[in-house]
Amino acid sequence: MAAIIGSPSRYIQGKSELKNLCSHAANYGKSLFVLTSPSGKKRVEPAISEGQKGTETAVVYEAFNGECCMTEINRVAAACRAANCDVIVGVGGGKIHDTAKAAAYYLGVPVVIVPTIASTDAPCSALSVIYTDEGVFERYLFLPSSPNMVLVDTDVVSRAPARLLISGMGDALATYFEARACQRSNAGNCVGGKQTLAAMSLAKLCYDTLLENGVSAMLAVENKVCTKSVENVIEANTYLSGIGFESGGLAGAHAIHNGLTAVEETHSLYHGEKVAFGTLVQLVLENADTEEIETVIDFCISVGLPVTLAGLGIKEVKEEQIMEVAKLACSPDDTLGNMPFEVTPEDVYAAIMGADALGRYYTEEM
Ligand SMILES: [Zn+2]
Repeated sequence: MAAIIGSPSRYIQGKSELKNLCSHAANYGKSLFVLTSPSGKKRVEPAISEGQKGTETAVVYEAFNGECCMTEINRVAAACRAANCDVIVGVGGGKIHDTAKAAAYYLGVPVVIVPTIASTDAPCSALSVIYTDEGVFERYLFLPSSPNMVLVDTDVVSRAPARLLISGMGDALATYFEARACQRSNAGNCVGGKQTLAAMSLAKLCYDTLLENGVSAMLAVENKVCTKSVENVIEANTYLSGIGFESGGLAGAHAIHNGLTAVEETHSLYHGEKVAFGTLVQLVLENADTEEIETVIDFCISVGLPVTLAGLGIKEVKEEQIMEVAKLACSPDDTLGNMPFEVTPEDVYAAIMGADALGRYYTEEM
């Protein structure tokens, strides 16, 4: 099997970069169909309009209906065609991005993704998660390529609540460890190939960037400023983790996250918060070096990512419930099979309880 790396053709990140959207997007088309929420439109329209002046680019706004479902994807595609637009731009969070990517795919037009938060590593990926009209997970739509362009205005992202950036750090924390597991097992990645050296290297850089910048970035965002450390963390959460997970491969942390979603109490937590705990569980499964585990736990505690089941909202731990999480994580269509050794539900159960015990031990010590 060949080694394959996927990525957006352009990744653009900078302060006030939103005002250059029209000039950057001119590489792809002259008429932009901007899908965003009504509140998102209020926040981004002034900067986009400022940059539009003097260009030949037209901008048409369309309000997102709230769910990434086939009804909405078809509606957006039809509206884009009716408006004679030749580029779809998704401005906002994950569901808007996924709808924009899918609609552009069905129309055969380029897509530009503009994240206004850095809470997951999805913006750069060649994937849309499709839900039913009622909001229940339906299927993954694997796209032939990543978005044509991803543009991140770091001023906009750093004004979002700190918890979103922290959650993005949790998602990004898993990237290196999952890619490393795939490297050890020679597992395939999410773009249908094996790892390249570049993907592994970006995954490692992602982890190092979080350790060096995570705490200062969190503090800066809590104080509503965008420092260099915030910019570094935004790049780690969005680009390094995005390429790192998709082209490096997924393994334990995300499979355990997926198992945890079956527990009602964890529903108020963000994706990255559960992935952070999944990372700790994967490290326990691997019996990773104590020093490495301590570094990860220290990092999580210092930025406020959960390291215990109680931190995930599970106040009363029931054996059969945790066993259910472990069984789900081991399901054959999930990614635990990418670990470099055989993993049974009993192993996962023990690792979850072991991770929780370690988390409690270090939380009490600090
Ligand atoms: Zn993730």
